[in-house]
Amino acid sequence: MPRSHRRRRDDAGSSDDAFARLLSGWKRTETRRGVEWTVQPVSAAQAQKPYTCPGCGREVGVGTAHVVVWRADGVLGDAADLAARRHWHTACWRIG
Ligand SMILES: [Zn+2]
Repeated sequence: MPRSHRRRRDDAGSSDDAFARLLSGWKRTETRRGVEWTVQPVSAAQAQKPYTCPGCGREVGVGTAHVVVWRADGVLGDAADLAARRHWHTACWRIG
């Protein structure tokens, strides 16, 4: 028999789902100028909204593979760090 008292968290809201997906997806940690960052690649198929790249100030267009970057050191807490995540052109992050 399945356990009936297990509480499901995945119907709480879509933003939690997005965070969970980010946290569970493939990603790597990089250190820049003494700060640890979590870097997660976004495929062209996943890029469904335009963003402004902090590296060059230009748009990361829909359908452009890029990376999402947020602090990995937990200074603000995971949720706040994720909320402050930035979308970079892959090349701009690499040279930034
Ligand atoms: Zn850029």
